[in-house]
Amino acid sequence: LERAKKVLAAGISSEFRKYNHPHALFYTHGSGTKVYDVDGNEYLDFTLSQGPLILGHSHPEVLDAVKNASLKGQLFAGQHAMEIELAEKLQQIIPSAELIRFCLDGSEAVQTALRVARSKTGKSKFLRFEGHYHGWLDNVCYGISTPSPEAMGPRDSPAMHPWTQGLPEGAAEESFLLPWNDLDLVAKKLEEHHQEIAAIITEPVMCNNGCIPPKAGFLKGLRTLCSQYGVALIFDEVITGFRLGLGGAQALFGVTPDMAVFAKAIGSGYPISAIVGKRDWMEEIASARVIHAGTMNTGNPTVAAALATINILERDDPYPKMNALGERLRSGLRDIAKVSGQPMLVSGIGPVVHTGFTDLESAVDFRDVLLFDKAKLKTFVSRLHDRGLRIIGRGLWYISAVHTAEEIDQALELAEEVLTAQDR
Ligand code: PMP
Repeated sequence: LERAKKVLAAGISSEFRKYNHPHALFYTHGSGTKVYDVDGNEYLDFTLSQGPLILGHSHPEVLDAVKNASLKGQLFAGQHAMEIELAEKLQQIIPSAELIRFCLDGSEAVQTALRVARSKTGKSKFLRFEGHYHGWLDNVCYGISTPSPEAMGPRDSPAMHPWTQGLPEGAAEESFLLPWNDLDLVAKKLEEHHQEIAAIITEPVMCNNGCIPPKAGFLKGLRTLCSQYGVALIFDEVITGFRLGLGGAQALFGVTPDMAVFAKAIGSGYPISAIVGKRDWMEEIASARVIHAGTMNTGNPTVAAALATINILERDDPYPKMNALGERLRSGLRDIAKVSGQPMLVSGIGPVVHTGFTDLESAVDFRDVLLFDKAKLKTFVSRLHDRGLRIIGRGLWYISAVHTAEEIDQALELAEEVLTAQDR
């Protein structure tokens, strides 16, 4: 840590500063479901590096694909045959993917989708939801934790809130921010402001704060409203893409957005993302009004990583197994919470599990999540870490295709030990 502080601004990642102090972790390698640090410690990993490693660390077939592609050249700043192959695959598996464009990460792809929406509609604002995260670039960047629900103002307040961070002057007015899962509020906002709003952007399952699925009819309702008012519906599938199934949340819920953004899991940890969408929206990229560039964005062996990932996921179909392991973890954690008397709310969908400390029986939006006990969560995460188990600091567990039932049971044993010892 001392060495890092001399060369890396802030020394350690914000994840550790925020949640996991005093344990600054410096990794050396990862293999399957395990990660290792410079002190020789082994951890059972449910962070999957914030989600991307759907096939676990160092999957040999993915590594081989990248190596073989690299041996034929590492970058072609122009189209490469493999890029077409990957786009054809995405076209087959993602409902909204009529046309596709590749970038390096989720933030860039979000930015591109928003540009397309602005360009095609000629409108400038976005409607987005509290607690959703869409990357760290300026016009979608904001603090995702706030001191209290009261600090957020009235539920239908017209613009982003004062805790918006890092925005250039005036940029906060680019977005309307509403609570998630409240279709009536969205309808009201669109009725009043549709002439200003270029796009609604949403995580189809809210995974960045808690793990909250959409209420029945919510996504469908957004679809209807967006079509009615000429507003782009953008699904940010950076987390849900390939994780809930190859077609993402849009295939699972049967709602097709105008555009969608895929990143994280699609490259098994290599930097690649995709913006996909309906032809009439995506063709806007050919216009002079939209710039989508990036020296590193084409013909890179990361395309090979994505192709290998899809091929493995199609061949092995690990989704039933991952979903069953998710259910095993959720129900085991619920039992432990009951036995230990801890107010732990266990939620999630498929291979995504969330643990939060609250007496609430469920959460429907970010305002509920803000009421969770952060200190208790921090103790829980930190004590799991001390016992060699890593989960994401905000209480999220990701299950990969290579996790086993034995590892879930091992995690449950450790969680029981921690929860039983924790103050009520
Ligand atoms: N959207 C969502 C839903 C995300 O979870 C993230 C990253 N956590 C992003 C966008 C940004 O992606 P990236 O970190 O790859 O830029």
